[in-house]
Amino acid sequence: MARQLAKSTVDKFRARLEEERARLQSLIDDYEQELEEARLSESSSDRSPDPGNAEASSTKLEYAKELSIEQNTIDLLGKVERALAKTDEGTYGICESCGKSIPLARLDVLPYATHCVDCARKA
Ligand SMILES: [Zn+2]
Repeated sequence: MARQLAKSTVDKFRARLEEERARLQSLIDDYEQELEEARLSESSSDRSPDPGNAEASSTKLEYAKELSIEQNTIDLLGKVERALAKTDEGTYGICESCGKSIPLARLDVLPYATHCVDCARKA
C-alpha cells in the first residue's frame, strides 16, 4: 500500500504546480502573440513576392521553431494540470502504473511526475 503524503507536503507541491501553471500559461500567451505577428508579416510578404528575400525565410524558420517550443510548453502544461488534479483527488505522488509512492526526491525535481522512475523508464 502506498504511503499517503502529508497534507502539508501535498500543499507545498500544489503551490509549486500552481506557480508553474501560471508561468506556462503566460509563456503560451506570448507565443500566441508572436505567432500571430509572424502570420501577419508572412501574409504581407506573400503579397509582394521577392525571391531574394532572406528575411522571409528566416521568419518561416523562426515560426517553425516557435511552434515546436509552444507545443512542448502545452504538453508540459497538460502534465502540470494533471498533477494538480491529483492533489485534489488525493492521489498525488502515487505512480499511475504500479501504485507505489513516487520518491519525494523525484517529485522535488519533477513536481508533475505521474510515474515512479522504474515505470517512467519502461514507458
Ligand atoms: Zn511505478
